[in-house]
Amino acid sequence: MPELPEVETIRAQLALRLEGRTLARVEILDPRLTRPFDLFEVAEELEGDRVVAVERRGKYLVMRLESGLALVVHLRMTGGFGFVPASHERAVLELDDGSRLVYRDVRRFGTWFVLDADDAESYLEMKNGPEPLGPGFTAEWLAARLAQRRAALKAVLLDQRVVAGLGNIYADEALWRARLNPLRPANDLAPEEVRRLLRAIRAVLRKGIERQGSTLRDYAAPDGSTGVMQEEFRVYGREGEPCPRCRTPIAKGRVGGRGTWFCPRCQLVR
Ligand SMILES: [Zn+2]
Repeated sequence: MPELPEVETIRAQLALRLEGRTLARVEILDPRLTRPFDLFEVAEELEGDRVVAVERRGKYLVMRLESGLALVVHLRMTGGFGFVPASHERAVLELDDGSRLVYRDVRRFGTWFVLDADDAESYLEMKNGPEPLGPGFTAEWLAARLAQRRAALKAVLLDQRVVAGLGNIYADEALWRARLNPLRPANDLAPEEVRRLLRAIRAVLRKGIERQGSTLRDYAAPDGSTGVMQEEFRVYGREGEPCPRCRTPIAKGRVGGRGTWFCPRCQLVR
């Protein structure tokens, strides 16, 4: 599933191609995409409108339109955009410069909602905590969130209201970097550990953006390029390989139903 760095990479490319362009023709091919709203109504609302900005909030893409409406897209497992014809096309946006932006989604969990600006704002605020690379994501804020929860640290970090945009990959990488066990109760962390965790989360997300995201299975950016962050993974998907810090073989377990990779030595439960 695309996480913050992948969605940010997609956003940046879409912004270059879409900002200032009019959606000359909009075709939505899958009723699941806009459910519970009718696909023809959604297409009609978008058609003829002009894209003023392409933004990101957590894992959501937000296309701001001149009319004040916003198209709020969540890619879920396998959603993605491209400028060449693709299999599993679920929607097509034809722009006034003649280009054709395709939305593809193999597993069809992605969603498109058209909301007016205020509704979009409250929806995104309800679903997401502060942006982890923004000024609102402070050690005090994170400590307060973690203190309320006894669940496994990693499971709490995957809650988008705690760390917007963080998913399975970058959570494992951040916990390894911070030398924290994914199963520690979230409310057990000392203030120094929370600060370390916060720095680690920011560092892995920044690096992910720099590397244009990671490429696993279905992800590709709209220009067809693939990111290289997977070459930087320290633990994710590396079961049995030596920990880059202490050479202990990386272990794999499950936390909250998600595959979880960690170093049993550097990330010892205390
Ligand atoms: Zn280690």
